Amino acid sequence: MRAIPLNLLRSATRCARPQVVRLRPARCAVRWSSSDSEERQWSTPLAKTLAQAIETTGPVSVASYMRQCLTSDQGGYYTRQTSGHDQFGTKGDFITSPEISQVFGELVGIWLYTEWMAQGRKEKVQIIEVGPGRGTLMDDVLRTISSFKPFAQSVEAIYMIEASDDLRIQQAKRLCGTDAPEEFELGWRAPCKYIPNCTVNWCEDIRFVPKEETSTPFILAHEFFDALPIHVFQNVANSTIPAASKTITSDGPIQPKTGPQAPKNQWHELMVAPIHESQMSQTPNEDGSPPPEFHLTVSKSPTPHSLYLPQTSPRYKALANTTDAIIEISPESLSYISDFAVRIGGANPPSAQSQPPIPANASITPKSKPLTTFHKPNPSGAALILDYGPASTIPANTLRGIRSHRPCSPFVSTGLVDISADVDFVALADAALDASPGVEVHGPVEQAYFLSTLGIMERVERLLKAAGDEDVRERLETAVKRLVDRGPTGMGRIYKAMAVVPFVEGKKVRRPVGFGGGVFQ
Ligand code: SAH
Repeated sequence: MRAIPLNLLRSATRCARPQVVRLRPARCAVRWSSSDSEERQWSTPLAKTLAQAIETTGPVSVASYMRQCLTSDQGGYYTRQTSGHDQFGTKGDFITSPEISQVFGELVGIWLYTEWMAQGRKEKVQIIEVGPGRGTLMDDVLRTISSFKPFAQSVEAIYMIEASDDLRIQQAKRLCGTDAPEEFELGWRAPCKYIPNCTVNWCEDIRFVPKEETSTPFILAHEFFDALPIHVFQNVANSTIPAASKTITSDGPIQPKTGPQAPKNQWHELMVAPIHESQMSQTPNEDGSPPPEFHLTVSKSPTPHSLYLPQTSPRYKALANTTDAIIEISPESLSYISDFAVRIGGANPPSAQSQPPIPANASITPKSKPLTTFHKPNPSGAALILDYGPASTIPANTLRGIRSHRPCSPFVSTGLVDISADVDFVALADAALDASPGVEVHGPVEQAYFLSTLGIMERVERLLKAAGDEDVRERLETAVKRLVDRGPTGMGRIYKAMAVVPFVEGKKVRRPVGFGGGVFQ
């Protein structure tokens, strides 16, 4: 068992509800002159680059800002060189469930095994993980799986979708015992140390992972979706959006409706702009963190996203007249979950596939988009999503920064602070069901429920009996308590699990283990 230092267990989790930084957008962007960004001292080179880019293009969406902060090749939080000091653990910024106890990954491995058995022990299994961090979850999963020989033998390949070069190397050391996986056409690869004749492959995007009709993909996403960029919109009464302004997008021009039908409220996108130096606080915040260099502004004109995204779901449309409502939408998350669903259940046939909805307050002529034609006559596989976010409501005001286990503004020390946002589980479920006729979605359920029904307590009992050392026993108990604790500082209630599994017309719904089903049904 991995020994867990006690101070690590006390450190802040990545998500803790009271730590959310509430964002108060300025109503209009502060004027910005081109000399500002050149002479000014910025916290990081990435902050300077971003400020200079905004000078030229104007304020950027929260999604662009998040993408740059997290994965820019010029010093993004995950993509910068960390010289071995990564983002996780006591010396890093946050800790996640797989890092807290090996039991977490073991139970996820058992969950995969129960799904594999329930689906008739398929032969060509792919195991895919998106955003694998240090590789700890996959390590515990593969070690567990390797003791179920027939399942292990069915695994053809493992795919890790990772944006960070440094983390990829850590994962390769852990899963393959090498820090130099070889390059190949999809990315990098090395033989897996747990499963004979099986390679671990690294790709930068899930779209590179081969999709085959006869493959059974088991996909894991632990704290991945919270790192994907969000767009943020605010519902503004007496909107200043000029009725005649037209926005040119890659899908064609979008023009707000005019006349009596024009909506009284409009969704305005919240954008990120640098705070003018003269308006920056000169004193650090109470907690010692530096003052923010960027802030949110409400866009005065429509953006392609503000006219389109809030019209894509009845959940957003229901808020059309709720002045000041804020909604967060992550299109990248929706394309990832759609990809998962298609791999498991095949794509909707082109005729049935929903066209992009026409915005209610816009005239839009979408160009025809290539529709995916991946068919899967026998749906198989599963996706397990573990993350934090509300069970049913639309996330609002959830953008947060975290550094050295303490919450901070997402607008300080660009690229050195982890930025994340709550996951909209309902939006993920809707997108999966829209993308594929061959899937059904279970959950979200609370992590405490998921782990308990998978037998976390029984597993811990066994480990406690085997542990001779009182110190080890105490650490194990503290760690497990934290994973299932439903209080405000625990991870049992805030974190949720959701599963995408095959749907077969005419077959009785089978609930997966952890979502109301048992091992034998
Ligand atoms: N699953 C791990 C790590 C979570 S942190 C755990 O729970 O411990 C987020 C992970 O996603 C990191 O590995 C980060 O490098 C990766 N990541 C973030 N954005 C990504 C993107 N756009 N594409 C691929 N990987 C990404």
